[in-house]
Amino acid sequence: MRTCVGCRSRAPANTLVRFVAVRFVVVGAGEDLRLQPDPGRRLPGRGAHLHPDPACFALAERRRAFGRALRFSGVADTGLLAEHIRAVSRPPGATDGGALAPHPDSKVGRPT
Ligand SMILES: [Zn+2]
Repeated sequence: MRTCVGCRSRAPANTLVRFVAVRFVVVGAGEDLRLQPDPGRRLPGRGAHLHPDPACFALAERRRAFGRALRFSGVADTGLLAEHIRAVSRPPGATDGGALAPHPDSKVGRPT
């Protein structure tokens, strides 16, 4: 069981997205941090978990939960993680009735 840093509820680790903070050096600007999704669960270092749900991502961002969970201060680039959450929160086949319009060239829902 792991705790989602967004809604703070506990869930089995395999239903959550693991991510880590990756530190990299920007020439002339010092160090920067990027949140790196780790679906394979093999990146080293301290990881944190989040439901594959944009709502949990937004909650975590609003509460600065990323820094608390991963022990860094300041701002990290959340772009990669946001993109990953968006991708995994829209499983193939779950395109009807949702708020998100299916991609125009989607091939889902056509069994052969
Ligand atoms: Zn959550």
